[in-house]
Amino acid sequence: MNRSTASEFAERLIRNDVQAIAAYHVQDATGLIKLDAMENPYEWPVELSDGLQACAAKAAINRYPDPRSPGLVDALFDAFSIDRRWKILLGNGSDELIQMLIQALARPGASVLAPAPTFVMYRVIAGFLNVDYHEVDLRADFSLDIDAMLAVIETHQPELVFLACPNNPTGNLFDRSDLRRILNASEGLVVIDEAYSPFASEHHLDLLTEFPNLLVMRTLSKLGLAGLRLGYLVGDSAWIEQIDKVRLPYNIGVVTQAVTELALRNFHLFQAQTKRICDERLRLLETLSADQRLQCLPSDANFLVVRLPKGTAAAVHTGMRERGVLIKKLDGSHPLLADCLRITIGSPDENKAMMSALTASLDAVV
Ligand SMILES: *Cc1c(COP(=O)(O)O)cnc(C)c1O
Repeated sequence: MNRSTASEFAERLIRNDVQAIAAYHVQDATGLIKLDAMENPYEWPVELSDGLQACAAKAAINRYPDPRSPGLVDALFDAFSIDRRWKILLGNGSDELIQMLIQALARPGASVLAPAPTFVMYRVIAGFLNVDYHEVDLRADFSLDIDAMLAVIETHQPELVFLACPNNPTGNLFDRSDLRRILNASEGLVVIDEAYSPFASEHHLDLLTEFPNLLVMRTLSKLGLAGLRLGYLVGDSAWIEQIDKVRLPYNIGVVTQAVTELALRNFHLFQAQTKRICDERLRLLETLSADQRLQCLPSDANFLVVRLPKGTAAAVHTGMRERGVLIKKLDGSHPLLADCLRITIGSPDENKAMMSALTASLDAVV
């Protein structure tokens, strides 16, 4: 008897919608200046190199980690001056928190709402979990279309609303008055995703006192710890205790716990890096805006969105890669992002190289 091959088994058993999706595509960055993924260009501070080694040496790698990560949670409360009346839930990156949130709220018929374009993982994870996803286009200036959002809330009352603020990939904050209107109108849970809070001029933790249906989600990835994978969710214990139940027991490794705690206990070193990135953001915005061919919007995140002359985005993106600089092509991902590229703020040297690559690539096509 002929047994099926592995691909025959897989084709028969793997969900059709899973078979249909393309694997999450990470651009190959070998040998390139990497300005595509909102990473911090600065490395682990030299002041902490001994500390880093001590963390690895002392970590009880043969034991399961403490699932409550008490030292790390305490350091988060301190570093970000979070009111101790709230509880914190840790995720292996905020991606994992998004998954836990949707899992915990996915009653039959449940749905998720988010504006578009926004962080793609909300939709991707809702799809994995078979949860309906509503999206409402932003306005042309990337602000929330508040009337359209409220209409969807009234009609569908989604169990979960995600608002990335600052938004990725557009870099802007949403109006606080719009956030309030959504929180007031929603019978569901609203999650404000502050992944870019280190670079933002407005924060929303204070709204927790006012709105029992709000949680604030953040990550340390954009702050310089992307490789460690740590996201956190802040809010009322009534929410955190329930969502904690769908967490896999040992989601934060011992080394991540120790190293992240060390970073947070020396938070001023990372704040200095953040300040340099914000200074560069301003400088880069001015440089980009000086080129008449480019349209560049202010940003509250560690990246800038530039709009190029019509029809040139793909060629400029390729031209820049050929010149050694990898950025993200937004053009083609959503109509509002036509002709747009997204550039992560790098170190001054990287930004200089990026500017020459951008100018040369533009010169070649315009
Ligand atoms: C980068 C990003 C995240 C994911 O961060 P991780 O903690 O690295 O998983 C979440 N939300 C937004 C809006 C992001 O841009």
